[in-house]
Amino acid sequence: MLKKILKIVGVALLVLIAVQVVNTVRYTPNTPEVAQIDLPEVDAARVAARLGEAIRFQTISTSEDMGTRGPAFQGFVDWLVATYPLANGAMTREMINGLTPLYRWDGSDPALKPILLTAHYDVVPVAAEGVSEWQQPPFSGLVADGFIWGRGALDDKSAIVAIMEAIEMLVESGHKPKRTIYLSFGHDEEIGGANGAGMVASYLKEQGIQMAWSLDEGSMVLLDVIPGLGAAVASINTSEKGYLTLDITAHSEGGHSSLPPRDTAVSTLAQAITDLQSAPVPGGLTGASKDFFDGLGPHFSLVKRVLFANQWLYRPILEGALSGSAATDAMLRSTKAPTMLVGSAKDNVLPQTATATVNFRIHPRDSIASLIAHTNEMIDNPDIDVTIRGGFGREPSAVSDRDSQGFHDLETTFRQVFGDIIVVAGLTVAATDSRHYAQVSDDSYRINPFVFTGADIKRLHGRNERISVDGMAKAVQFYTALIQNAAQ
Ligand SMILES: [Zn+2]
Repeated sequence: MLKKILKIVGVALLVLIAVQVVNTVRYTPNTPEVAQIDLPEVDAARVAARLGEAIRFQTISTSEDMGTRGPAFQGFVDWLVATYPLANGAMTREMINGLTPLYRWDGSDPALKPILLTAHYDVVPVAAEGVSEWQQPPFSGLVADGFIWGRGALDDKSAIVAIMEAIEMLVESGHKPKRTIYLSFGHDEEIGGANGAGMVASYLKEQGIQMAWSLDEGSMVLLDVIPGLGAAVASINTSEKGYLTLDITAHSEGGHSSLPPRDTAVSTLAQAITDLQSAPVPGGLTGASKDFFDGLGPHFSLVKRVLFANQWLYRPILEGALSGSAATDAMLRSTKAPTMLVGSAKDNVLPQTATATVNFRIHPRDSIASLIAHTNEMIDNPDIDVTIRGGFGREPSAVSDRDSQGFHDLETTFRQVFGDIIVVAGLTVAATDSRHYAQVSDDSYRINPFVFTGADIKRLHGRNERISVDGMAKAVQFYTALIQNAAQ
């Protein structure tokens, strides 16, 4: 009898191992063959100098100046016209809300749905206390050590300059697109984009113009950002997270703190926050998260590949490991972060209310309503109020098609320009202007064609923002090839 059981167990184990081996062997990258193309010669020094000029316009967005804009903004818009005469000659331009240029390059075939290439030219302020730590002054636009330095070098003037350079070169070479191409360069992305991209979307909607797809910032060509991968990763992001802030308020009788009740609003609130934080929002390797990691999985070393190839068996282990780092955990689920606390105004006065503020970033599988429900369920205290701070939240974006012609054209272009590269569909964890453009686009994709290393992450909105001269030249090649691939 025992012998028989052992035999069954042995056979079962062998089958289990065999299944895993077969799954792992068959778990190979799905890399489409792309036709090699001749990439245009780019005058890298000229492009670098022009990005430097663009950076010198101090087009700073701050939350206090909603609606008002200094001469730097008009200066930048005029500079675009003066610097790219051929592109401006070939396209028509509409100024939306005075400061966001919307260009149109008419295609010869009106039956083809247009596409929209976008970027923004406003930048975040430079913190005064950190200025001395910049290797080059933040609005100098200096070219030094193989880099162009300054605010906007990565986010996001570089994309505007690369797109305009590409079109200038294409017009010069006599290129005429079949498909109409729109360009929109927003002036207020860093403070929400309502007056720029938002108005562009309204304008296009009024005109009845619907794009096949739009391309905006939201990811980059990631080199040494994801551990364990030898090649760079172009994460073409097909969705972006939503945004929600909740105020969680506990109540108690006020009075003097010399005769306190067993619990005050502060201690009740403390318990509520502890309960809320006792488990993450449910998530895992499904939907947009699965797309992303399935794209990367076949490129990992053998042990990781066994795990990814056999998610039916190892999913809990994988999810546990990915949850261990904030960066990968944010890809798996909605996140929650308690950020602010308010109680009594005086040390010896009992609070009548105590409020904690919690910021959520909403994964596409969740919604504002489901996260409020999650919060109430975790806190499980009917005396605690949960309200939306400011009465405003933003739902996550829809997940765009990763099998569309547009995605395919983007993927092809990345492979042609960057060679041996991993292309995946990803998720943007921050907010971009895409949420506006999505109203007039069948699909919205989010990535800039800039090589970006782990060390660059802190340069975004931080100190020493820069882009390499070679990287800018490559970006010009990318947009040139993209327009040829997508508009022919
Ligand atoms: Zn940006």
